[in-house]
Amino acid sequence: MKKLLFMVSVLMIFFGCKADESMPEKEKTQKTNNFAIIIHGGAGTILKKNMSNEKEGEYKAKLEEAVKVGHKILKNGGTSQEAVMRTIQIMEASPLFNAGKGAVFTHEETNELDASFMDGKTLNAGAVAGVTNVKSPIELAIKIMTDSDHVMLSGRGASIFAEEKGLEIVNPSYFYTERRFKSLQRIKDREKTELDHDDKKAAFYDTDIKNSKFGTVGCVALDKNGNIAAGTSTGGMTNKRWGRIGDAPIIGSGTYANNKTCGVSSTGWGEYFIRSQVAYDISAQMEYQQKTLKQATKDVIQNKLTKLGGTGGVVALDKNGNMSFEFNTAGMYRASMNDKDALIVKIYKE
Ligand code: ASP
Repeated sequence: MKKLLFMVSVLMIFFGCKADESMPEKEKTQKTNNFAIIIHGGAGTILKKNMSNEKEGEYKAKLEEAVKVGHKILKNGGTSQEAVMRTIQIMEASPLFNAGKGAVFTHEETNELDASFMDGKTLNAGAVAGVTNVKSPIELAIKIMTDSDHVMLSGRGASIFAEEKGLEIVNPSYFYTERRFKSLQRIKDREKTELDHDDKKAAFYDTDIKNSKFGTVGCVALDKNGNIAAGTSTGGMTNKRWGRIGDAPIIGSGTYANNKTCGVSSTGWGEYFIRSQVAYDISAQMEYQQKTLKQATKDVIQNKLTKLGGTGGVVALDKNGNMSFEFNTAGMYRASMNDKDALIVKIYKE
């Protein structure tokens, strides 16, 4: 009898292990409760001395409102995809940030919006570049991921797709804000008066961009199922020409997410972020060099991007809920919240 019981237990252990080994990947990842969310509203020359208390309060309040929307979704068991979209939509609807409503102007005095989204569980992604009449570019990026065979759509075609899918279409004048229009005029005036040679022009652009504020918005979230999602939305850079596309809609530069490593959203001088593949490089360093999130974000921003001459920053979050804000500019609008409800809202370097 004892022998029989022993055999039965051995068999049970054996089959028990087998069951665990053959468990689908999906179930194996469903064990974390470390949900978390991290956002940015752009980096750049953001200095306390240039900011009124009132403006600072407005930025902080909007960042807090946005991060809390996503946090609530995650706390109630919602997906990281939903949290990222809803959080970014709060910032897209605000004129404070260079995304959606507050988008900057192109040289031709239009607004051309870019956005991207990535799902860390499936590595599915969606992106849009140069749309002029879609109210929420982040929603469109997600729709491209879920409802089309493509990853990236641009311009007129992207608008047609958005219309077909029933997304909210607005008159391009919706994106007009006086503040952004004046910024464009200031740059154009300086171009006219100060520049006569091409070499001066190059120097002018360099200093001007280095000293500017990048108001792109981004969000990375980890949900209770261990799924990471990341998204980024922007108007690009003031005075951009010729259909210029920055890093924000480029998967691997402006946005990246992988459940095995981390999720990242970038903001800064897009050309450098494309050349450095900032978001993917952070994930790759974690995957192939076993770096921590902090080590990887620090190396990519403070070492590699800085050496190349790029300016900006990232928000990133790993599969265990660790978070990182990393930037090489004077400031970055940023906020985060974890599963203990601990809220961080900051602007300047601290
Ligand atoms: N990265 C964006 C771009 O180059 C700008 C920004 O971050 O505000 O289009």
